[in-house]
Amino acid sequence: MNSINETNLKLGIIGYPLSHTLSPQIHEYWFKLHRISGTYEILEVDDVGLDRIFCDNIHQYRGLNVTIPYKVRVFDYVDEVSDSARVVGAINCITVEDKKLIGSNTDADGFMNGLLAFNGDLDFTNMNVLVIGAGGAARAVIHSFLMKSTGQITVINRSSDRLASLEKVFNNQIHCMDWKKLNDSISQFNLIINCTSQGMKGENDFSLDFTSIQKGLSVIDLVYNPLETKLLIDAKRHGCKILNGIPMLLSQAALSWKLWLDIKPDITDDIIRFVEDKI
Ligand code: NAP
Repeated sequence: MNSINETNLKLGIIGYPLSHTLSPQIHEYWFKLHRISGTYEILEVDDVGLDRIFCDNIHQYRGLNVTIPYKVRVFDYVDEVSDSARVVGAINCITVEDKKLIGSNTDADGFMNGLLAFNGDLDFTNMNVLVIGAGGAARAVIHSFLMKSTGQITVINRSSDRLASLEKVFNNQIHCMDWKKLNDSISQFNLIINCTSQGMKGENDFSLDFTSIQKGLSVIDLVYNPLETKLLIDAKRHGCKILNGIPMLLSQAALSWKLWLDIKPDITDDIIRFVEDKI
């Protein structure tokens, strides 16, 4: 790896659209904190622009994050894929080495690190988890629980075809449930995670019927804008412990730094407040 005393350290994020991304602010905060002179560029590109980055410009960068809609497309450009990126089926972090590009997924470990920071005493073997959603984020969350040998993982998704393809990936390790059973089954679970984009700013709210929950239920929403979705507000009103998507957002970014620079920034209250203030 090159020295990070260099003056032209370049990182960035590829996606479309990127108008609401908080990644530059997060990475610039850490550049300052770690006294590194670097830039984190927003690469908002169409398909042609994506190709151009990889064919012409990629070796300018030490590392790139990848977001919607390119987390799958970039498999075509990398030379090596990490185990978690292969299982999750998505690359959100590319490390640029002299001779090769390595595609990784830091969402799975980022989710788990955020969860453990929220509650380090979790008893994974007796956990009965409901994952709502079957997209890339849901896959990362499921993979992170499987790595911990979590008790029972149930997955539910609006569209049955996407749920069926997720079931194939995780084989006999998860239980899939019909979308219509969502509210009737809620009493079974002690941890519920919304991995859908419902509840994000500009989207419809996501609601659950919390009247029959078990005591001690925790509810996590991967959405971080707004900081408290209707789902989290309702859950809190019913006595649940709640967590938004900020710890995962920061942890996956910190894990990208570990891969690119061999530095793992701490997720402090200061950076959490800094990011929350940007929303
Ligand atoms: P994705 O691959 O596009 O998947 C979207 C998921 O949301 C699908 O399961 C989809 O169901 C479901 N969905 C969308 N609209 C819905 C609706 N109106 N009702 C019910 N289900 C609906 O997206 P993703 O990458 O998994 O991201 C999902 C969410 O996680 C986003 O809000 C994203 O911002 C968040 N996220 C947060 C972090 C973080 O660091 N905090 C990291 C990654 C993702 P169908 O299959 O039926 O369409």
